[in-house]
Amino acid sequence: MNVLIVHAHPEPQSFTAALRDQAVVALQAQGHEVQVSDLYAMQWNPVASAADFSTRENPEYLVYALEQRLGVKKQSIAADIQGELDKLLWADLLILNFPIFWFSAPAMLKGWIDRVLVSGVCYGGKRFYDQGGLAGKRALVTVTLGGREHMFGEGAIHGPLEEMLRPILRGTLAYVGYDVLAPFVAWHVPYISAEARQAFLLAYELRLQGLADELPLVFPKLEQFDEALYPLS
Ligand SMILES: Cc1cc2nc3c(=O)[nH]c(=O)nc-3n(C[C@H](O)[C@H](O)[C@H](O)COP(=O)(O)OP(=O)(O)OC[C@H]3O[C@@H](n4cnc5c(N)ncnc54)[C@H](O)[C@@H]3O)c2cc1C
Repeated sequence: MNVLIVHAHPEPQSFTAALRDQAVVALQAQGHEVQVSDLYAMQWNPVASAADFSTRENPEYLVYALEQRLGVKKQSIAADIQGELDKLLWADLLILNFPIFWFSAPAMLKGWIDRVLVSGVCYGGKRFYDQGGLAGKRALVTVTLGGREHMFGEGAIHGPLEEMLRPILRGTLAYVGYDVLAPFVAWHVPYISAEARQAFLLAYELRLQGLADELPLVFPKLEQFDEALYPLS
């Protein structure tokens, strides 16, 4: 299996980076090929803009998704985007590895999503959810956070974690067709002991060993909706 880990953390020695390294070792030990996109180390440009296209279908008015579609076809899309898109298409499993920032992903990773999940390849028209361009691939979100486990869930102060991560799990990964696995979560990371952090690394290694047998989260299938995308009764 080919695995792409997209890692977004500003500190190279962070615990989040330790999770990335754990994944590389564990997956390679299972015989998988692994590539890592370390967005801060790459000085990834997270800003979607007109500069992403060397030529434009409409130079007067930027419709980003439309230019993405044409840019991929005409190979006029920026080289950094094309490079990441090639890795994305190569990978059977995508792992997004990041610390939670404001109930979400760091801007660096958000900008990777905006620029790399291009219209016309990853989605477009009625190609989304189970019909998305990346259908047949799997995705895992691996996060660290400051909050404690009991702060998340039904009735908990922050609500369910899957609800917090909905824009990524559903609005991004499931939308482009991935089978999305339940996130791996390291809670309360800055405030726990080194031993407790080691326990998270071990739990992650074990999780990765059993990944092939996991069932994905459930999201809509287009066959459950009519032509106008109203639900079929
Ligand atoms: C802008 C911003 C917004 C945030 N929003 C939220 C939010 O909405 N919700 C929330 O819950 N949290 C939030 N946080 C907190 C953030 O999610 C956590 O601080 C972060 O996830 C902790 O992970 P880390 O990798 O940065 O830990 P680090 O601070 O890098 O590491 C913690 C400790 O682990 C040690 N460590 C490193 N490697 C290892 C290893 N191999 N083994 C054992 N120990 C190791 C480090 O030396 C350090 O002492 C936010 C933080 C920021 C900056």
